[in-house]
Amino acid sequence: METAPRIGFVGLGNMGFPMAGRLAEAGFAMSVNDLSPEVQQRFVEKHGASSAGSPAAAARNCELVITMLPDGKAVQRVVLGDNREAGMAEVMAPGSILLDMSSSAPLGTVQLGEALKERGIHLVDAPVSGGVPKAKDGTLAIIAGGDSAVVQRCRPVFDVLGGRIFHSGPLGSGHAVKALNNMLSAAGLIAAAEVLLVGRRFGVEPTVMNDILNASTGRNNSTENKMERYVFSRSFSSGFSLDLMVKDLTTAADLSRELGVPAVLSQTCRELWAAARASLTKGADHTDVVRFFEQLAGVRLEKRGVDDE
Ligand code: NAD
Repeated sequence: METAPRIGFVGLGNMGFPMAGRLAEAGFAMSVNDLSPEVQQRFVEKHGASSAGSPAAAARNCELVITMLPDGKAVQRVVLGDNREAGMAEVMAPGSILLDMSSSAPLGTVQLGEALKERGIHLVDAPVSGGVPKAKDGTLAIIAGGDSAVVQRCRPVFDVLGGRIFHSGPLGSGHAVKALNNMLSAAGLIAAAEVLLVGRRFGVEPTVMNDILNASTGRNNSTENKMERYVFSRSFSSGFSLDLMVKDLTTAADLSRELGVPAVLSQTCRELWAAARASLTKGADHTDVVRFFEQLAGVRLEKRGVDDE
């Protein structure tokens, strides 16, 4: 892509909105679409992109089309169409690229790649890590899977959105690594919550204990970046939903089963998160999972260590 290609962007949610916004501000000509007309309108007013009435309309005349949708099923629906609406594949030209930056299931991605290959359309999976703050400041980790030459053609887009950019291997490998990363991250969050609750029961202030963990070998991304900001503050506002986390954990657990790799920890972790989802209100943030463990323990991880009892 020597000159900036026209970009179609579908899915302007918590992540897609700031990512597409950065691309528009970087000077890419864009057509955008979201299921929510209000969100789409807000984006167009803020960034001046052209408003598309459907995913296929957003993809028309674009050399590169980006999807940032909840899951791989939603991606397949907008790409291949359904009985209500034509898919983007019908209007995308041979040689164009579909760049799926959603966290989709890897085996579905491989199948979608085969369907698109028949039409001469390239597929790259490039999920991201870092959440809403890094989407806003363009420092996401980007994990790209697919043919090297095609991944290279996406570089101008990655440079605007990402801090660190990785080529993980063949098509689907980005989605596999992303789901496995989230499994590890989710396990780290609930493990941290569990030990902080035990410490709290013993009489240790959660903030004090978290500082100790962060200077010790037990620290992880949740102790460093989530406990203080989202849990002790009681804001539970990371912008990554509990539903989407459970989706990723299901993807990772399914993958281990499909590949015949024993993954007892992963299966147990997924079950605990699914139990939390069943007990919490719809629309919960993924950091709300701590509330589920607090309910079981009968204590809360608050700044002053005030009990629930
Ligand atoms: P979100 O639910 O906030 O946004 C999804 C958007 O897609 C919504 O605006 C929705 O209206 C739109 N949409 C759904 N179906 C559509 C369709 N058929 N046509 C057009 N638009 C449609 O989700 P998000 O938090 O932005 O996450 C998007 C993806 O990125 C997910 O796969 C998620 O797992 C992944 N992800 C999220 C985060 C995070 O911190 N939120 C971080 C990394 C990766």
